[in-house]
Amino acid sequence: MLPDADVLYAALVARDPGFEGRAYACVRTTGIFCRLTCPARVAKRENVSFRASVQECRAAGFRPCKRCFPDQALRPRAGSSSSGAS
Ligand SMILES: [Zn+2]
Repeated sequence: MLPDADVLYAALVARDPGFEGRAYACVRTTGIFCRLTCPARVAKRENVSFRASVQECRAAGFRPCKRCFPDQALRPRAGSSSSGAS
């Protein structure tokens, strides 16, 4: 079962990898769903709902985010550059 939505939203804000693969954030305003670790800006609490699987997100009409690719398996990021200056 999904943890409490408030817990998940806090994890989303913190980009907490602890829920990776266990919960996905669906953003009503954009129609997109994300991993909780998505680098994109976090949507407002009232616009975010959580589902336990990619299948559930898709069934609800959401599309996978193009930044965090929630519908794809996690790829190890070892060796990727960490240069992220704004
Ligand atoms: Zn995303």
